[in-house]
Amino acid sequence: MTLQQAKRPIKTVAVIGGGTAGWMSAAAISKSFGTDIQVQLVESEEIGLIGVGEATVPHISAFNRLLGINEAEFVRETKGTFKLGIQFNDWGKIGDSYIHGFGTIGRDLGLMPFHQYWLKARFAGKAKGLSQYSLNTVAAPMGKFMAPPRDAPANSPLAEIAYAYHFDATLYARFLRKRAEAQGVVRTEGKVVAVNQNKESGFVESVTLENGATITADLFIDCTGFRALLIEDTLHAGFEDWTHWLPCDRALAVPCEKVAPPTPYTRSTARSAGWQWRIPLQHRTGNGYVYSSQFTSDSEAADLLLKSLDGRALSDPKAIRFTTGKRRKLWDKNVVAIGLAGGFIEPLESTAIFLIQSGISRLVSLFPQSDFEPVLQDVYNAQMQFEYERIRDFIILHYHATERSDSQFWNYVRTMRVPDSVKSYIDLFSANGQFFREGTELFGLTSWVQVMLGQGIMPRSYHPAVDWVKNEDMQALIDHVEKVVASNVALMPRHEDFVARYCAASSI
Ligand SMILES: Cc1cc2nc3c(=O)[nH]c(=O)nc-3n(C[C@H](O)[C@H](O)[C@H](O)COP(=O)(O)OP(=O)(O)OC[C@H]3O[C@@H](n4cnc5c(N)ncnc54)[C@H](O)[C@@H]3O)c2cc1C
Repeated sequence: MTLQQAKRPIKTVAVIGGGTAGWMSAAAISKSFGTDIQVQLVESEEIGLIGVGEATVPHISAFNRLLGINEAEFVRETKGTFKLGIQFNDWGKIGDSYIHGFGTIGRDLGLMPFHQYWLKARFAGKAKGLSQYSLNTVAAPMGKFMAPPRDAPANSPLAEIAYAYHFDATLYARFLRKRAEAQGVVRTEGKVVAVNQNKESGFVESVTLENGATITADLFIDCTGFRALLIEDTLHAGFEDWTHWLPCDRALAVPCEKVAPPTPYTRSTARSAGWQWRIPLQHRTGNGYVYSSQFTSDSEAADLLLKSLDGRALSDPKAIRFTTGKRRKLWDKNVVAIGLAGGFIEPLESTAIFLIQSGISRLVSLFPQSDFEPVLQDVYNAQMQFEYERIRDFIILHYHATERSDSQFWNYVRTMRVPDSVKSYIDLFSANGQFFREGTELFGLTSWVQVMLGQGIMPRSYHPAVDWVKNEDMQALIDHVEKVVASNVALMPRHEDFVARYCAASSI
């Protein structure tokens, strides 16, 4: 037998679970492989979806483009709005507020990033807060938004507005389902009651549904949410628990009436035992309190959340329990876990849907054949581990870089021992404002710099190369950037006007 004969292409994929992870996986795999692969999806209406997950990072546009999704239709159908960044209130200390915006800050000069010049000017009292030098962080609090106009000159900040979306997660799953089914994905309604493995290899051969039907496949994608039916219950992949660094383990989510035009940013307000989100949609506002059960009770958390809504609550709060961390193996044998089945990092920087997208695109790149060469899953697992850990570190930064000492929760996170990787990022930035992005980690220089400065880490100095630029040239750069940003933001429409013109939902 030749080598080629030993390998057989994968012909069938079964996606188990029909939440955001399930439908994103089914839609992307069927789009990538066309009719060469038969994709089936099993979901149980009785079990339902988690139904939260309403804020994203800009990368989702690449995913939507892969599927050929029209942006206006997608935002309209999911009753979505646009997001320029996240406003963090009361994080560094009570009363503080800053925005972590997407996109660029200022203009780099020579080898140095803009914020290095800004640091020198700031020390000399000749620069405003860093947020004044980025289009996103000036436009967001003013309620301005537009997508980059097609005719914007390439060097205009309007040409590079970076943005993401807020949307109704249940509508997004429904929207993707329509597309996936149109591409040939076959959906089966039913509850999986047994997962059947090959006795020798341990590979999953089929799942049995409550009605007795069985579904067989070459490759299984576990998208069963926190239940992790295949990857954990069946294959026992193991779980790396990060609660000691990220002690929040519960959330209460509740929508409320919309009482004002939607802001083009997510709001995150630090509370005594966690933080509260506010996500504006076209028809309502999503809210939630993510908290640690070690430091507050469920009833205290519910009182705090319900007292601080913008408008009337539209339902009772939905309670969600979670453990922060990830499976030791996200891909084991012929099962790949995507979405909550694989792991969970709290939604402080809206990264869960990004991790779904990144898991899918990595799986497509490393797609196996019937022999499931172990190196493919090893590379997949190593790369996903890196991705999760770097996001974890960025989230830890938000809690650890604080002066808050007003509750046991804040005393714990402020003084806890953080991973060496976080400590070294903080130490280097504190020395002279430097940051080095590691490989392809999600959050780069502008993100880390905004959060570190926003939470009170001011470098002791700036990079010495900044002194090679004449002071008057440096000041001209800083003043120019401020003027250009302000004049471009003045041209932008209000967010609600942009939504009304471009992608208003038909029923609100
Ligand atoms: C409090 C909170 C806030 C969040 N906020 C954000 C955010 O702002 N941004 C972001 O990107 N992400 C966020 N997330 C994460 C986001 O909600 C999830 O990553 C995303 O919805 C994917 O969920 P899922 O598809 O993995 O799981 P689920 O939505 O739970 O779907 C699981 C699916 O599996 C099916 N299933 C389970 N068991 C069986 C069975 N036995 N038989 C058949 N089917 C079964 C269910 O029916 C369902 O279809 C948040 C999560 C939480 C908990």
